[in-house]
Amino acid sequence: MIIDSHCHAGKGDGLTGPWDTNAPLDKYLVRAKQAGVTHTVLFAAFHSDYGVANEEVARIVSSEPDRFFGFAFVNSVRDRGRVRDLVQRAVEEFGFVGIKLHRHDAPISREVCEAARAFSLPVLYDVMGEAAVCELLAEEYPDVNFIIPHLGSFADDWRAQVALIDHLVRHPNIYTDTAGVRRFDILEQAVRRAGARKILFGSDGPWLHPGVELAKARALPLTQSDKALVFGDNFLRLISKVHSSAPVKDGRSRAHSVLATRANPSWGDPWSPDAARLSAEASRLRSSTA
Ligand SMILES: [Zn+2]
Repeated sequence: MIIDSHCHAGKGDGLTGPWDTNAPLDKYLVRAKQAGVTHTVLFAAFHSDYGVANEEVARIVSSEPDRFFGFAFVNSVRDRGRVRDLVQRAVEEFGFVGIKLHRHDAPISREVCEAARAFSLPVLYDVMGEAAVCELLAEEYPDVNFIIPHLGSFADDWRAQVALIDHLVRHPNIYTDTAGVRRFDILEQAVRRAGARKILFGSDGPWLHPGVELAKARALPLTQSDKALVFGDNFLRLISKVHSSAPVKDGRSRAHSVLATRANPSWGDPWSPDAARLSAEASRLRSSTA
């Protein structure tokens, strides 16, 4: 199992660059399969109406529900007053398992954090170098998990990336992903200081090549159990408590099917410390859904 925890999908409507115009998955899916990526987390490209954009992502996720997870994209300013409704629909109707927002749209808000808390969703927030906000998020919402992608800066701002590592080390609910991080020494430092438990593999596909990004992540100094964390188990842990009243289509059932696959001894190392726990979890799920 390898989960790419960061990939865009669907059309944007901005027409200023690839990021708000189109995130086509055709080449990504071939490349991901060739690289051994088994599951992918999808969210929209930049869009002026995330209600519309999330619907398109939901259609893509439902085309291969065992391969894809969905995150609800929100704009904290433009969607003020309807964030909870957008998120609730995404969780209960689409089976989404997280929230995505970007500082380029607007800074994160309490409304977003409270929606995340209400449904126990992780929040993937691109801070665009503003790593200091992690201090406030960690203090105010210790029960919400935040994934700060690109080690805090897609733009290679090494000051922000080094500052983010400090937040990863000090705050139990601050995580990062490997997507698009080019300065390898800083990524290595993040692993060494914060530990593999705080780092998720992500590619920023389809614009970045998942195989290239995966090769980079594999070059990190990770033990076998560290690799299991970075390449999937961290993500599954972060979505394991998603609240939804929807009985079948919800994120838990999809995550659990991934866990059940992973717990199958023919797929993984039966001597890994997680195998017994996962196997018990899988049989519990099979008996509860029978
Ligand atoms: Zn991205």
